[in-house]
Amino acid sequence: MTNSLFMRIRDRFPADLSSVLIETSTGKTYSYGQADVASAQIAGLLTGLGAKKGDRVAVQVDKSPEALFLYLGCIRAGLVYLPLNTAYQAGELAYFMDNASPVIFVCQPHRKDEVAAIANDQGVEHVLTLGMNGEGSLMSGAQSQSGDFAPVPCADEDLAAILYTSGTTGKPKGAMMTQMNLWSNAATLEKLWGFDGNDILLHALPIFHTHGLFIACHCVMLSGAKMFFLPKFDRDQVMALLPRSTVMMGVPTFYVRLLSGDDFTAETTANMRLFISGSAPLLPETFTAFEQRTGKALLERYGMTEMGMATSNPLDGERIVHTVGPALPDVDVRVCDADGNVLGVDEVGVLEARGPNVFAGYWQMPEKTAEEFRKDGFFITGDIAKIDAKGYVHIVGRAKDLVISGGFNVYPKEIETLIDKMDGVDESAVIGVLHPDFGEAVVAVIVPENNGTLTEDGIIGGIKSQLANFKVPKRVFFVDELPRNAMGKVQKNILREEYKSLFA
Ligand code: ATP
Ligand code: MG
Repeated sequence: MTNSLFMRIRDRFPADLSSVLIETSTGKTYSYGQADVASAQIAGLLTGLGAKKGDRVAVQVDKSPEALFLYLGCIRAGLVYLPLNTAYQAGELAYFMDNASPVIFVCQPHRKDEVAAIANDQGVEHVLTLGMNGEGSLMSGAQSQSGDFAPVPCADEDLAAILYTSGTTGKPKGAMMTQMNLWSNAATLEKLWGFDGNDILLHALPIFHTHGLFIACHCVMLSGAKMFFLPKFDRDQVMALLPRSTVMMGVPTFYVRLLSGDDFTAETTANMRLFISGSAPLLPETFTAFEQRTGKALLERYGMTEMGMATSNPLDGERIVHTVGPALPDVDVRVCDADGNVLGVDEVGVLEARGPNVFAGYWQMPEKTAEEFRKDGFFITGDIAKIDAKGYVHIVGRAKDLVISGGFNVYPKEIETLIDKMDGVDESAVIGVLHPDFGEAVVAVIVPENNGTLTEDGIIGGIKSQLANFKVPKRVFFVDELPRNAMGKVQKNILREEYKSLFA
């Protein structure tokens, strides 16, 4: 009962509390000791306002060291941390406040009035502010609090956070993460990826999502390492810090952007021991170009909000392109058909996972939660995958993106991979659109490279000889860019909506 997530993390802080935890892009440093004191002061402030164990604290702020201390302050006080994407607007905030009924909402200073009005409507008692330089009522109120706050005891199954999914396939769902969910995944990954006190993580991800918040920050704090905290991915800033960093975690677009300049080389990455990629599929071309340019293999791993990480290519050992590696040591994965029968090697079905990292369910969605779990505790991820003879998982796509045309299953990724290889194509998204004869018809949406001279007939003609007829797109459209959410994921639901009447 006493070994809460906070205490477990705090126990891993280096003995010398003056060690640097964070260095910002302006060169300002924050020590582990400062994180400890600030988290105590924030815990004192929030509980002083009446927040009790299990209460939700919603946070929609810019990335800053103080935002991380706020997370630590919440778990220190047994409060449930609920971070929100800064892109969310008024209507969306009302949904989250209504859904999660937080007792305190921490917002950006310039949005105070707007948020306070919504909070008032939704019965949220307190609105505090936190700006990107630590300004606002949160830290000014915390300053007068004691730097010594006894951590509130929590059981392993108590909630530590509610994290909303990215909303790639629909409305974001609140994943309830327990103390043990977060702790087990943190401890497993810190060890698996070989973190130690000499590491310096280049942190350019947002911290309202599992990747940048839990995966990245926990690995650093559990090993007493340091991180460069950039407000967002800025290619020049990242290039400048690479020679002083040892590890980077990123989404595939970070690596595409790094590769877009000739200055990203074996020399400029010589100090880096590890580049990790995840949150969205990594194109094989990116993996290969990265290896050719730097002499290093990107480490691709797979996870989701609901479970943190579930699989990872190895630190030592073969990192295989187009795979997300085997299951983590404490996670079981399997591939099943729709009826829950376990499939064999290389058979394609839906990936399921079980382990101490798997969440406790969707907040206030008991039916949805029940639908996504098997009786034996496996969580149905909704990702289509296969597991090869070596135990490596290959993600084939999302179940929701599967197209069924004329009764045949079509996996968009197979077609996208072919289209992306064609001359003049930058990237593509393949979707299913309602069709009177086929049920669904395959449609490709393509972003041409600069000055491309692609045509619909050219694309269709080019892949006809390589694919069964039912997989060949019936129509092809060209666009300037694909709709993406804050994590860089292509939002096919928006494309499906846009083209839904095509064959009607
Ligand atoms: P929502 O559930 O709201 O539709 P989302 O699934 O995109 O949004 P996240 O939890 O942020 O929300 O993302 C998890 C998903 O990201 C996984 O289910 C998977 O589809 C995808 N993903 C993560 N890592 C990888 C990877 N390495 N390769 C392919 N897909 C990945
Ligand atoms: Mg999801």
